[in-house]
Amino acid sequence: MPQNKRLSRFRCKGCAECCKDFGRPNILPLFEWEKELLQKNAKKNGLRLDIRPLEAIFDAKSGKVITLQYGMHNAPCPFLVHKRCQIYAKRPSVCRQFPISFPKKELSLSEEVFFHCPNFDSESEFYKRFSKGKAKNERAYRKYLKKTYGSCYTVAWEVLQFQKKMEKKIDKLINQKKIKPKKIEEKDIKNKEERPILEFLVDLKEITKKERELIINRFNPKRILAKP
Ligand code: SF4
Ligand code: SF4
Repeated sequence: MPQNKRLSRFRCKGCAECCKDFGRPNILPLFEWEKELLQKNAKKNGLRLDIRPLEAIFDAKSGKVITLQYGMHNAPCPFLVHKRCQIYAKRPSVCRQFPISFPKKELSLSEEVFFHCPNFDSESEFYKRFSKGKAKNERAYRKYLKKTYGSCYTVAWEVLQFQKKMEKKIDKLINQKKIKPKKIEEKDIKNKEERPILEFLVDLKEITKKERELIINRFNPKRILAKP
């Protein structure tokens, strides 16, 4: 247990370690609008990206693969040049939320929500505030994260809410028999027509194009302040 209980605030030191290695698995998760943006930038700069569905379900009814999240398999990140991100103002959510990573299924009130940043010992900091390694309630937990991680926390929270919302939507579509999920081998995904989740929902008329834009706009970097 650390003796000094004074809390520190997270400040990114720009060492770029998190851009060289994305952890295990060594894949950078991307939402559909982020994939589009990265591919556009890569094309402009003559870069080759390896982006594939990371989290997807096969819908036997439409014969389509519905992708909830993509993964970029290029590590170190090709947008990192001389320790600087070439798309910093438009970098993906996962880069903005680092080092916070909420588990999707349930909100863990413990130290398990942190990616490893070599310049900030998130776990020790957490133990300074919550001596048993677990926050007693969600309010105290969120307050601590907001104070310590600022906009990284805000982005991580938006990401979590979006993921939960999409999972709920998928469950509802399954219950209404509008989609029929079926297991599919990863190698077979590339032979199927693939649709990103929000576009798929527009196809199904579950949301309008305008609603898709509004959802995407919640992640607009201008809306959520840049990482400190
Ligand atoms: S978040 Fe941490 S690992 Fe990433 S650039 Fe900042 S200091 Fe380095
Ligand atoms: S997009 Fe930018 S911030 Fe994100 S991993 Fe690549 S270089 Fe780092």
